[in-house]
Amino acid sequence: MPGFEFFGEEERKEVNDVLQTGILMRYGFDGPRKGIWKSKELEEMICKTFDCKYAQLVSSGTAALTTALAALGVGAGDEVIMPAFTFVASFEAVLSVGAIPVLVDIDETLTLSPDAVIKAITSKTKCIMPVHMCGSMADLDALIKICKEYKLLLLEDACQSIGASYKGKHLGTIGNAGTFSFDFVKTVTCAEGGAVITNDESIYIKSDGYSDHGHDHKGVDRGADLHPFIGYNFRISELHAAVGLAQFRKLEKFLQIQKKNHQQLKDILSQIPEVSFRSIPDPAGDSCTFLSWFLPTEELMRGVVAELKDKNILAGNFYWFDNNWHYIRKWDHLKNAGSLNNLNDEQKIALEKIKHASFAASDNIMNKCISTSITLLLTEEQIKDKGDKMVAAIKKVLAKQNIIA
Ligand SMILES: *Cc1c(COP(=O)(O)O)cnc(C)c1O
Repeated sequence: MPGFEFFGEEERKEVNDVLQTGILMRYGFDGPRKGIWKSKELEEMICKTFDCKYAQLVSSGTAALTTALAALGVGAGDEVIMPAFTFVASFEAVLSVGAIPVLVDIDETLTLSPDAVIKAITSKTKCIMPVHMCGSMADLDALIKICKEYKLLLLEDACQSIGASYKGKHLGTIGNAGTFSFDFVKTVTCAEGGAVITNDESIYIKSDGYSDHGHDHKGVDRGADLHPFIGYNFRISELHAAVGLAQFRKLEKFLQIQKKNHQQLKDILSQIPEVSFRSIPDPAGDSCTFLSWFLPTEELMRGVVAELKDKNILAGNFYWFDNNWHYIRKWDHLKNAGSLNNLNDEQKIALEKIKHASFAASDNIMNKCISTSITLLLTEEQIKDKGDKMVAAIKKVLAKQNIIA
């Protein structure tokens, strides 16, 4: 899954280009930078790779979500519907623009349940934010239909699914805007970085300004820029963009390896009739960063987690149900409105509601689910060995359960 497995000469060369001029900033210094514009080059490459009109690089995936929300005009009083299974960045970004996170259930796609979305719509709903978790996609046809019917914006969090697609279109380019993260464990990394992508010129112009103190970037120098609106500093540096550029050139290779390794592991686990797999709206578009699989009951899955741990092979197998970062069950800081600064009253009410809400439908999926991360550097033999050990652990737990039953 992570690009950091392939860090090498290519990345060093790009970074050295920047170090040679010493111009580490992405804007200005036109003369001294001697034609080196790594951020611009990477933005062009992202547009070309994903067939979209505009890309704005920023300092992280969280910054990309925050910027995209602001550019979409989402703010105080607006509700954003998002899934209960996601990374904490999703609600952080929503809260940071003053808006209200509305968390709803997922389904077997491990992404937003369209039925749960419909039930959560109110007169305050402004945006639906599907999160394409673990390399694969939400049911976008259903969500687009809802957005059209209720006149809502669609913001795709594609941070974990770079290179995945849905019916021939790249994830992130289908909604009004999309976001990527290039943090250290993502499909391509530049240490820290992210991007807002869109086909809408006005969202792009707003993202461009918002991520750089509201600069309109029309002046001959930064001092001459106007500020049509208030912005913040979410800029990426040229050093980060340089690493990203080298990584992006390898994206196709990463995806090919991921798909091959994913298929091999899936074939091995498929031997066990009790194992089922995540439902994927467009299987051909899966970027295959993870293989997500289920057992029939929580008890069985907990048994397997314990067995994998016992055999020292739990690493890379994520039982999200017990995880502090990715699933609502353990987000006590959110439920208790543990904010350093004062949240607005509507946000406080919304968080109190989340604290008492039931996510039984999601619990019922997540408590039986493991996502196994697909590493790039494993050989065919190593994957076979890993898969065989997982199969042995699962069979052992199944056998025990049958004896008890
Ligand atoms: C990684 C991630 C983010 C945030 O990215 P950072 O670059 O780490 O800020 C947002 N959403 C999801 C689903 C992620 O996995």
